[in-house]
Amino acid sequence: MNKFDFLDPTNVGKDYKGFILLSIEDVPDYKCKSVFLRHRRTGLEVFHLIKDDRENLFAFAFRTAAKDSLGTAHIMEHSVLCGSEKFPLKEPFTTLASQSISTFLNAMTYPDKTVYPGASLIRSDYFTMMDVYADSVFFPKITHDTFIQEGHRLELDDKGNMSIQGVVYNEMKANFTTFYQIANDEILAAMFPDSYPAFSSGGDPAAIPSLTYEQFLNFHKTFYSPDNCCLFLYGDIPTADQLDFINEKYINRLEQKYNCTTDVPFAEQKLPYVKPEVKELLKLNKLQKSVSLEKTAPEQGATGSLALISKYTGRPDMEKYFLGEVLFGNDSSPFAKAIKESGLGDMPYTGNYGQFLEEFWVLGIGGVKAGNEKKVFDFMEKQVKKLYKKGVSQEDIDSAVMGIDFNLREENRWWGPYSINIMEKALKGWVWGESCTSQLSPITKFEALKERIKSDKQLVQKLIKKYLMNEEPDCRLIVRPSKDYLVDRAKAEAVLVEKLGQSADKEALKKDLDRLHENQTRLETPEELACIPHTKVNELEKTVDEPSVELKTVKGSDGSDIPVLISDEETNGIFYIDVLFPFDRLDPKYFMHIPFLSNVITNIGWAGERWDKCISESACLMGDVWGRILVGSVYDVPECKEMAKKYEAYNFCGRKWIGVSGKALTQNAKETLDLLAKIITKMDFKDARRLKTLIQEQRAGKKASLVNDGQNLAFKRCTATWSEGYALAEILWGVTQLYTVAAYKEKDAKKILKQFEYIYRESLKAGGLIHITADKESLEKLMPMLGDFANAAGITKLLPSKNYGLQDFLPYVVAAENLNGEHTKEALKTESQTGYSAVVIPGSQTLSKEAASELVYSSWLNTHIMWEKFRTTGGCYGAWAGIDSGERLFKLSTYRDPDPEKHSDLLPASLEEAAKTSLTHEDVEKAIVSCYGDAITPLTPRDRGKQAFETFVYANNGFKQLRVDRILEVQDEDVAQAAQRLVQMAAKESHKAIFCDKSKESYGKNLDIPL
Ligand SMILES: [Zn+2]
Repeated sequence: MNKFDFLDPTNVGKDYKGFILLSIEDVPDYKCKSVFLRHRRTGLEVFHLIKDDRENLFAFAFRTAAKDSLGTAHIMEHSVLCGSEKFPLKEPFTTLASQSISTFLNAMTYPDKTVYPGASLIRSDYFTMMDVYADSVFFPKITHDTFIQEGHRLELDDKGNMSIQGVVYNEMKANFTTFYQIANDEILAAMFPDSYPAFSSGGDPAAIPSLTYEQFLNFHKTFYSPDNCCLFLYGDIPTADQLDFINEKYINRLEQKYNCTTDVPFAEQKLPYVKPEVKELLKLNKLQKSVSLEKTAPEQGATGSLALISKYTGRPDMEKYFLGEVLFGNDSSPFAKAIKESGLGDMPYTGNYGQFLEEFWVLGIGGVKAGNEKKVFDFMEKQVKKLYKKGVSQEDIDSAVMGIDFNLREENRWWGPYSINIMEKALKGWVWGESCTSQLSPITKFEALKERIKSDKQLVQKLIKKYLMNEEPDCRLIVRPSKDYLVDRAKAEAVLVEKLGQSADKEALKKDLDRLHENQTRLETPEELACIPHTKVNELEKTVDEPSVELKTVKGSDGSDIPVLISDEETNGIFYIDVLFPFDRLDPKYFMHIPFLSNVITNIGWAGERWDKCISESACLMGDVWGRILVGSVYDVPECKEMAKKYEAYNFCGRKWIGVSGKALTQNAKETLDLLAKIITKMDFKDARRLKTLIQEQRAGKKASLVNDGQNLAFKRCTATWSEGYALAEILWGVTQLYTVAAYKEKDAKKILKQFEYIYRESLKAGGLIHITADKESLEKLMPMLGDFANAAGITKLLPSKNYGLQDFLPYVVAAENLNGEHTKEALKTESQTGYSAVVIPGSQTLSKEAASELVYSSWLNTHIMWEKFRTTGGCYGAWAGIDSGERLFKLSTYRDPDPEKHSDLLPASLEEAAKTSLTHEDVEKAIVSCYGDAITPLTPRDRGKQAFETFVYANNGFKQLRVDRILEVQDEDVAQAAQRLVQMAAKESHKAIFCDKSKESYGKNLDIPL
């Protein structure tokens, strides 16, 4: 048979092994081509973005939606990964995660779909993942045990106390804890009454226990059929190879299971097919007439009410994106600025809700004083009219265009490969039954829009009229924080437990639980685990790539040599710059102000101009400019000490920095550097009114993110007295910082500004350095400009650090005395339906064989003991072990934990139990491969530059190969020793912190969270 050319247009309409090639398209915005195919018999659709990228990605996606909050789709997402026909393991997903070299492996439930993506740089690994995922989604076991483990069950503890447990149940409790999470749900419920966005796709813990096992099984039948599956592919593995794989391994089995005996009637339909019953579910109800609604949400995270007007704006469109950037793109944008200056609240709440086929705008403010909500509505209406009448300035338009241009050009890797972003865009159109490429031309669409922007001076006004002054009904919504919200939920839960307990068949329940618990604790044998093939250590490429920097110098304003660190990366005509000054010559009493100061420095104006003019000026020229903090230490190991010694004369190793960072198109290099120099040298600290707004926003932001930040806060606490580096981290980003933020008072604005000016100027006087990440062409253009820039920015020779130690920082750590002693315990208390626990014990020093063994061991722990004890049995959403060998620490933690008090003790105790398990050679090998996989995960050009720079200034750049070598050398007995060593370490010293609800009983020392 001749090779089938998928990109030959004459092949459109022809079959390849039962797959009809339906279309071939150019996707110029992502520099690739695409093919769309459908399997004749099963209806399975495949879309492949053929791209010269070694990091291949696949995703099985199913349209899933529901008009209830039972969380069925979410529980299903978890459950199909708990064993399948070919992979009858307890959790093939974790087994896979524990041994693959994946660069991404996950599963996500969206309101309208459930997606199972995996990515890898290694072909064999890619197909292993695809095999496990295909079998899991189409042929899962989904037993009753799985259902009660992942969904919900009545659980009895040793004392006979009843509670509702379940992984999803507990995970979702955290989603029903804070003000803005609930407020957001209320907005969707208001705008799409009785249609799927109005319900919680993840599941509402109050509703989840009503889901029955039968309903659950039916859900799989309805939604997980091949004719409701979108198989997304991206990368350089040939389409034929991928279809061969699916054909060989799955098509027959799918045809049998789903009874596919003839061609599906829509086989040759050009557009994606959506089953009628799914189409019906995906329909959106809109408001027929305008409404006013009042709702309540938890007090946690709120500084006042949220009041907003929302308005339908039709289908996705570039115009709307542009209008949003013009009106709200940055603090100086006209609408955003008016909101800030209105004094009506502290949290602008505006934007386009774009995840559904019908979109809508929200114009609102959070943190509104009770009684002022209606004023917000009047204010919004007036603003829209005013802007429509007056129009906006050319700067507002220019900065919006620059912002969009920049975003479309910059490659990011927010939470996985860049291809995940493309996948999400493709799936949008696909799920709705539109072409998979319908959302894949943002650049082309924006270029066309730019022509209209140039030729039509009234365009923004026309868009305001079209989107914000249309005849569509709107919704005025007030969400008020309520003290009773969480209390009421907790009461309702208790009533439900009582009710379920009364109606439960105790004997049957006990049997269920015994079987479940036994199954959960049973270890799988190596023979059972062998069903998933794994890569062997000797098959791995030994040499790994590590980004590096080149050290150069330019003359500073004092005539001395200023260090310039250069990262040469493929940045696509963009450059990134950091200009940093050490703050570590100041008295440590000032350090607590560094975080807020870094936020203030690019937001308060310079050179005598008002702050909004300044922000607008920079937004027209640059992708962004922001205050930057960089702190760290040179680790106490010979390799790092030696490297630091080599650069001693420059004084840059191990410093604590504050400064300005920016990103811009290289074509604007000269103007950008001029502006940066102006910002740095002519920063103003005069606008007290502006500072007041920033104080309010800082406080509101910290408050809103408090619960989500719980794990981080707990870790910062239990390490706060461990080392100089950790003490500083607690001061800058821990609970200690929350105390600092709470202490900023608006009335002190002038005083604060004076202090900030002092800190900033003193840091500048201590000298500086420059770091640039850019591609070769950009560097050629930039390098000759840097001398003038260093001079204009007043950068001078770096003066030596004062070398403060731990003792110098401790006086500024809140309640440091709580952390005195070999075994400490501390509870951070606030209002929260969820908790976190964090524990640290001593670990081995970086770059040593012992540290590598501990890393490998932690990887095994994560997919075995940690997962079983804390997730499947303990009901936590996650639990994790890891090392920070630079600080000689071993860390343990739980995430979204229903019982952090208990688990924080169980964490170190589980090390003892784990140490009794003897790992097989296979176990060790798999853990090594997994650690290796983490080490080779690709980074974006920007992050490569960032990593190289940061490791360089803390004297551990160039050690990645050494680290990987150490990992690959780990032997079985090293891991066994690591396990024993950690048990001894935990007995010697441990520091525990939990984040939990105020109502929890005493646990060690208490620390209230301010705000
Ligand atoms: Zn989940």
